[in-house]
Amino acid sequence: MLDIAIIGAGPGGLATALRLHQKGFRPKIYEAAPELKPLGVGVDIKVYGTREITEMGLLDEFRKISVEAKDSIFYTGHGQEIFAERCGKHIGYDHEQRFVHRGTLQFMLRDAVIARLGPNCITYGARFKHADQGETGVTIHFEPHEGAPQAARADVVIGVDGVHSAVRKQFLPDAMRTHYSGIAMYRGVTVMPPYGNGGMILHIGDPLRQGSLIVYPIADNIDGKGSQLVNWVCEQSGKPKGIEDWNVRIQPDDIAHVFDEVKLDFLDVSKMIQEAREVYIYPLIDIDPLERWSFGRVTLLGDAAHAMYPRGGNGVCQALVDARVIAEKLSEIADPVAALEAYEQARRESVNRLVIANRGEGPEVVRRLVEEKSGGKPFRHIDEMIPRQEVEALFMEYHRMAGMKRPDDQVTAGAFKPVFTEETMRKTAFATDIR
Ligand SMILES: Cc1cc2nc3c(=O)[nH]c(=O)nc-3n(C[C@H](O)[C@H](O)[C@H](O)COP(=O)(O)OP(=O)(O)OC[C@H]3O[C@@H](n4cnc5c(N)ncnc54)[C@H](O)[C@@H]3O)c2cc1C
Repeated sequence: MLDIAIIGAGPGGLATALRLHQKGFRPKIYEAAPELKPLGVGVDIKVYGTREITEMGLLDEFRKISVEAKDSIFYTGHGQEIFAERCGKHIGYDHEQRFVHRGTLQFMLRDAVIARLGPNCITYGARFKHADQGETGVTIHFEPHEGAPQAARADVVIGVDGVHSAVRKQFLPDAMRTHYSGIAMYRGVTVMPPYGNGGMILHIGDPLRQGSLIVYPIADNIDGKGSQLVNWVCEQSGKPKGIEDWNVRIQPDDIAHVFDEVKLDFLDVSKMIQEAREVYIYPLIDIDPLERWSFGRVTLLGDAAHAMYPRGGNGVCQALVDARVIAEKLSEIADPVAALEAYEQARRESVNRLVIANRGEGPEVVRRLVEEKSGGKPFRHIDEMIPRQEVEALFMEYHRMAGMKRPDDQVTAGAFKPVFTEETMRKTAFATDIR
């Protein structure tokens, strides 16, 4: 049986270990951090991500730590509703869409890895430095660290070490530069009573004037008194790039009043921001699509292969899909080099399209269209701005593009002028085959 080394114990590395184990392998994980901490804020697990988690046998655990998405609602900068649609099973998909804290998800996956593969399968403090490969295997060298190994041997190495991947640096040194959107993300979490029906993702604000705010709950009953942990992300253009580190904290003062004009009868947006438990700033960055992921017995997976703008949970969900596919290929194809090439073949192009498409607005385009039409002023009725049927068509089209055709999709192709045309797709939509 192949000895497989996974570099990185993020959600991608841990999911890969679980998928390989399901195929009969016993991989080892090497993680740079001396211990895992529940870092990050919220992630939105789309229906295809929940399907992966279900197939890993973790749906019950996942339900306990996450919140079910019920409704997705779009508002103008004044808090007027533009469009609402139901989520996940509520609209007929086979799986739920759920919201979760990244760190809690990572811990759930880690616990499952330890339960299935034993406590020694993860080595902490093992920071990948470089790998030497020959005909029969790979020697992995680690940065010196007390208690950590200096080197390890494997038949296959999977680099799942994030956006600044050291594995990528060795094999694609010219592909280390990140691509900055010109937008800063303020990412915060607030402990507060549930708003609305307790499962609503809100898309608020005039993207041209105020920036964009996305709000969703990621944990129920966080304080034993029924409060939820609510995640919010505010995107502001023209802000300083900041440090490319997920853990840089700031005070909420900079942005607390940007959304003062938003009047929602069920949520005080400014108060939510002001009372945040923690706020981080992170530049909206990704890496340009890679021309190659696999190099003999070494390959890349997750953010190391395709760091994308962290919008819509696709970063995590795509890593979960990678994990399934690499395990399938390594179990089906005896030659590990050919298996890694087959994995890349199955995944790279479609994920690269998603990286590019993710640079666009996706369905958020609807807010910009309405603000342009209304001149940023309140309106009497949304139908005067954009007919309901056209918005429906836009969303149906978006779901088709995303490879998640909406189950109630009955809009006749060509009935409306498409927003996500081939021409505009690279700028405004997702485009990938999810499975
Ligand atoms: C601290 C942190 C916070 C994040 N917060 C969010 C968030 O709030 N929202 C969001 O959408 N996405 C967030 N992300 C990104 C998100 O986790 C990924 O997009 C997605 O889960 C894919 O995961 P991954 O396992 O490929 O990469 P990552 O989650 O980045 O995990 C990479 C792992 O590799 C380890 N590592 C790095 N270098 C080495 C090395 N040389 N040797 C060994 N191990 C190494 C890291 O310590 C980390 O554990 C965060 C990532 C990190 C690292």
